[in-house]
Amino acid sequence: MKVLRDTVIEIDLKALASNTKAIKEYIGQDVKLMAVVKANGYGHGATKIASTLMENGADYLAVATLIEALEIRDQWDYPILVMGHTPDQYLEEAIRNNIVLTVFSYHQAKLMDDIAQKYGEKAKAHIKIDTGFHRLGMDPKDEKTIDEIAKICSLKNIEVEGIFTHLALAGEEHDKRQMELFIGVIDKAKERGIDIPLKHAADSIATVDSTDYHMDMVRVGALLYGMVSHSKGFINVKQVMTFKTKISQIHYIEEGEGVGYDYLWKASRTSKVATLPFGYADGYPRNMRDKGYVTIAGKKCPLVGVLCMDQVMADVTDLDEVWEGMDAVIYGGGENQMTIAEAAKLAETNKNEIISRISARPQRIYVK
Ligand SMILES: *Cc1c(COP(=O)(O)O)cnc(C)c1O
Repeated sequence: MKVLRDTVIEIDLKALASNTKAIKEYIGQDVKLMAVVKANGYGHGATKIASTLMENGADYLAVATLIEALEIRDQWDYPILVMGHTPDQYLEEAIRNNIVLTVFSYHQAKLMDDIAQKYGEKAKAHIKIDTGFHRLGMDPKDEKTIDEIAKICSLKNIEVEGIFTHLALAGEEHDKRQMELFIGVIDKAKERGIDIPLKHAADSIATVDSTDYHMDMVRVGALLYGMVSHSKGFINVKQVMTFKTKISQIHYIEEGEGVGYDYLWKASRTSKVATLPFGYADGYPRNMRDKGYVTIAGKKCPLVGVLCMDQVMADVTDLDEVWEGMDAVIYGGGENQMTIAEAAKLAETNKNEIISRISARPQRIYVK
């Protein structure tokens, strides 16, 4: 694809490969690595990063929705799990495309079994257990749950390949309680002769901080992309994306003149103001006004005035040399550049939101 705009997301595939390897090394050969590439690979472009992940230590891919899975399936044969709910009417499409589904009811498992039988295929499923997050899953406190799991596992045209839960990360005690409930279900199933091969619970934070919770596989998203939130363990990862642009125009304005809608910023001195071609429609948080900055020639240049949909203005008065077409870094990992972590703090959200909200508009450029 031709690059036809100055605002781009540069994806460092070498950093992605090295992050993947570092995680695989950390968990060891006995634990599988499920690379979470939902939300278009947290904005990095799922279909474009899939092979880098799989060739550097990932064993499995995971997404949130069937559409995300099918986009990847169009280009790759890798195993893909849909971690979210797939409504009944879409099961056939999923099974026909060899997509592994999350199930938490006999009702759906039976439908999958019927579809698989019709096509002479085997549908694959991971059973979800709700150990306290209360988002999706079967209730481990309900006595009927084990019977239902046994019934699902007895279906002839389904391979129950995995069983998983998700931690609320509400504190060590709560995590432990959730894990006990999960292991309780696994043990009760074992008593009935059911041993599901892939048991998994850990996301990025639990993978690094709670190595006891690795089980057979970990589901890692944020960490792959260089987002670090853990506190106890250590793993050396690097931010994969750099969001950058170039100056469109420079304005020389007098003290007291306003900039942008409603003149919400006024120059307190004779100023140089640079216009940059990105805005909130690119997924940059609009609430960065008076907080955000871009980095030009290694210096932080504060954004001024209201952020527009497609353009923002930055105060570049303190740069000795500045010209139209000059590079500006929006999010990066270099000196004086706004990291994803800092962007999250300034925009009062989390790192995953900052990267997954970046829209389709800025072209992704892959650097090998
Ligand atoms: C998104 C998600 C993950 C990955 O979370 P990270 O914090 O990005 O590692 C793991 N498991 C489930 C069920 C998820 O939805």
